[in-house]
Amino acid sequence: MGTAVFEISAALFGACIGSFLNAVIHRVPQEDPSQRSLLGRSRCPRCGGIIRWFDNVPVLSWLCLRARARCCGEPISPRYPLVELLTAALFFLLAVHPPFGAPILADGTVVAAAAVAFGLHMVFIALLIALTFIDFDTRLLPDVLTKPGIVLGVLGGLWPGVAGVISNDASVSHELRTTLASVIGLAVGGGVTWAVRAAGTAVFKKEAMGFGDVKLMAMIGAFLGWQGALLTLFLGCVFGAVVGGVVALRRGFGASIPFGPYLAMGALVVLFGRDVLVRTLFDDWPRWQRENPSSLLLVLTVSVLSLLALLWLIRRGRR
Ligand SMILES: [Zn+2]
Repeated sequence: MGTAVFEISAALFGACIGSFLNAVIHRVPQEDPSQRSLLGRSRCPRCGGIIRWFDNVPVLSWLCLRARARCCGEPISPRYPLVELLTAALFFLLAVHPPFGAPILADGTVVAAAAVAFGLHMVFIALLIALTFIDFDTRLLPDVLTKPGIVLGVLGGLWPGVAGVISNDASVSHELRTTLASVIGLAVGGGVTWAVRAAGTAVFKKEAMGFGDVKLMAMIGAFLGWQGALLTLFLGCVFGAVVGGVVALRRGFGASIPFGPYLAMGALVVLFGRDVLVRTLFDDWPRWQRENPSSLLLVLTVSVLSLLALLWLIRRGRR
């Protein structure tokens, strides 16, 4: 299988998974257990009519139906094709730039560990997308998604080592070093977020940040390691601060925003840009700082603003 065929297949598969994620986003948070099942046929949320397969083709059906349901003319949100396109784009990116090497070589050879890592990263991306939109809708990050994600991240540490290796000591087995990288990532990601949550609760005298955010960060740490978890938390605060600032300008400073989507965004940046980020942070940045001592002010400003944003973000109550 040629590289281009593999990349296009990954994108098409991503569009189908995106279609499934639309069902996950809609059904998982339902209060009524009978509506929570993912097994039933797709039904129109307004009239209950069964949606036939040719009206359920990712992106294309939405375009052909001109964003209206065939059964009752109910407008279909552009978010449905958006989630499908987003998943397709991220799976395509994963195939073009696999963080753990190409799963299929140009001559058709399958590299087992890279293929397993590729599969795990597809699930990781799918979980981040589902959690992002569920958090936007409900301000919840359901356990039914985060807990299996944590388990999967640690299992991924057993063989392909999705969180990297914790040390280069060759006298310790490779599996132990990759598993430790996942477990330490889990502990740091969950632990630091838990500490921030506890501090926020003490300062604001009310429940700050959800425990869902803690479990999400534990999952991200299990997949990305402890450095990846800290980078994700930092990026999540910066992204959240930018979006939170825009929301505050438009809707007033009482408005609250969910934190999960920005953590997920940070995790994706770290997943695809880890090499560049580590090089920038640990090589280029210190050198640049030695050459421009006044830049410390810029770094301090960004850090303080992010911290303020974080405190402001967690001020909102959350289930
Ligand atoms: Zn309908």
